[in-house]
Amino acid sequence: MSQEKCTSCNGPMAEQGSTEFGCPACGVRISRCYRCREQSVEFVCPTCGFRGP
Ligand SMILES: [Zn+2]
Ligand SMILES: [Zn+2]
Repeated sequence: MSQEKCTSCNGPMAEQGSTEFGCPACGVRISRCYRCREQSVEFVCPTCGFRGP
C-alpha cells in the first residue's frame, strides 16, 4: 500500500476531488489534493524541480 501525499502541501490525499497527473517535464506522477487544486497552488516536481500551475 502506498499513502499518497499532495505534492503541493504534503498533506494526505484523503479528500475526494484530488487529481493526479504526470510531470510535463519528466513524467513523474504529481498528486494534488482538492484544496490545492481549487486554489491553483503551484506544484514543484520533487524529481526535476519543474514548477507549474
Ligand atoms: Zn495540497
Ligand atoms: Zn518532473
